[in-house]
Amino acid sequence: MSALIGGCACGQVKFRAEGGAKFAFICHCRACQHLSGTGHAAAVASDRDQFTVSGNPAVFTRPSDSGHEVSQHFCQTCGSPLYNTMTRGPGLVMIDWGALDDPSAITPDRVFEEHNAADWDRVPWHEYA
Ligand SMILES: [Zn+2]
Ligand SMILES: [Zn+2]
Repeated sequence: MSALIGGCACGQVKFRAEGGAKFAFICHCRACQHLSGTGHAAAVASDRDQFTVSGNPAVFTRPSDSGHEVSQHFCQTCGSPLYNTMTRGPGLVMIDWGALDDPSAITPDRVFEEHNAADWDRVPWHEYA
């Protein structure tokens, strides 16, 4: 699996995920709506122990609906969402799709919290899986 590289809009933060993509998803939960600023987040899961970051992203930690902690990392200068880590899956890092240098290389293969999707934001993900 080829490495994933990416970073924020202003270039201050860069990351490299040597483990590549394990799976990719769309999530319509309320927290993902807040952090993406729109109807859903799209993210790619990769191995956390092979994930390296340069720059100094800010971190915002919140409880998830299921009671675990989710820590969202974003650039302190431009505010770009970058990736999150969660106590529920400590071996993984969830990289925000838009932060990838080549997002077109990754297609989401599953959807979470679809019941919370806005009517205008129903992603036909079944066609991609
Ligand atoms: Zn930035
Ligand atoms: Zn979510």
